Amino acid sequence: MTKIQNPPGPSFNNNLVLLALGTNRGDRLQNLRSALNCLPGRLLRMSHVIETNAQLPPAAPADWNLPYLNMLVSMKTDYAPAELLSALKLIEKQHGRDPEAPRWSPRVLDLDILLYGNKEVNSASLTIPHAELKNRDFLQFLMETMGYEIPGAIKMDVSGYAPLRHYALHPKFVGILNVTPDSFSDGGKFLQPDKAEQQAKKLQLDGASIIDIGAQSTRPGYDEIPPSEEIARLAPLLDRCSDIKNISIDTYFDDVVKYVLGKNNVKWINDQASVLGSQTLKLIADRDVKLVIMQRDMSTVWLRDRLKYLQNLGLEKRNIIVDPGIGFGKTKYQNLHLIKQLKMLRRHGCEVLLGASRKSFMTHHSAAPAADRDLESIAVACHARDAGVDYLRVHNVADHMRFFVTKHCIENA
Ligand code: AMP
Repeated sequence: MTKIQNPPGPSFNNNLVLLALGTNRGDRLQNLRSALNCLPGRLLRMSHVIETNAQLPPAAPADWNLPYLNMLVSMKTDYAPAELLSALKLIEKQHGRDPEAPRWSPRVLDLDILLYGNKEVNSASLTIPHAELKNRDFLQFLMETMGYEIPGAIKMDVSGYAPLRHYALHPKFVGILNVTPDSFSDGGKFLQPDKAEQQAKKLQLDGASIIDIGAQSTRPGYDEIPPSEEIARLAPLLDRCSDIKNISIDTYFDDVVKYVLGKNNVKWINDQASVLGSQTLKLIADRDVKLVIMQRDMSTVWLRDRLKYLQNLGLEKRNIIVDPGIGFGKTKYQNLHLIKQLKMLRRHGCEVLLGASRKSFMTHHSAAPAADRDLESIAVACHARDAGVDYLRVHNVADHMRFFVTKHCIENA
């Protein structure tokens, strides 16, 4: 096999490797994030993530035809090629991949060594450069996006190659789905369960890590509906949402929490009002479900006390997400200041979520009506991601993702 040229950049040695990561089962974006954390070496550069159709032999069962997410990562490692292969197989197994599963069947994780410096390896269990590099347009496409030059002998023409979708792994998005008649920017749009289901699927496909469903609008001056009505709005939707991997329920009613904890894809409770009873909070702790807590004024004492209280009830910090509560109990200026100071929230040792999408503090500096404030929301998101936010709760996941894919590609060039 002809030698593959490394891209221009820092000097490379024998321990510089290029790996391909693929996944077409489970929570695919999360599988990639988790695998990156396990890799045995120092990560240097990452491609963005592309979605591609599965490449299957003609007789493959129809249910194997699930699209893949793929990405490349370059890494410095002390592992020799055979050791690296064993380590990668172990990571695949730890993520739930069955080593005995048929060759082309769906997999939670596929880790391949594309290049190992300029080494060529041809053993029974390992071929480097990877044998499929010459056949797989998506691998060559990703190498081109990272600036690698592929030698003429194996180079395919990928100029017309178009992945199904493009994603960035950070930040993570929480897609907003209001099944209400009166929410401030999308009230009434998703009240019917079929419309809401379609929107949940769209948000997931656009790259939302979790869908936050609210059945009660808490916009300023809202009319409260009782828990029974919230459940009546949620039940038909949750029954339809078994394909949605991760759901968050935005509620402050104990009865609603008890009801939704019966669904195994409900992974978060978004407790914006902090009025849930201690029994309910203990139930959330027992189920290992995450709790989002919201700071409703400018006091940091409240947050410290609340965290202590929740930990005493058995909630672990890894399961508590802190939201500064943009738009709640703050002046427009204070909202801007909080966003600017977002880094400070990390000192509590919990993950941080920012929910600023389309909110009215933007009227200080924008004339756009609520439903048309995605550009402003993306500007806020850009700042928040640089401040290290974990989750952005947004209405328009697709446009945020487009922005962050481009940002990722420039930052990793
Ligand atoms: P798959 O997981 O379907 O990509 O196939 C994995 C098998 O391919 C492993 O058990 C390896 O022995 C073999 N293999 C050969 N060359 C490579 C390579 N460069 N990277 C990863 N696996 C390889």
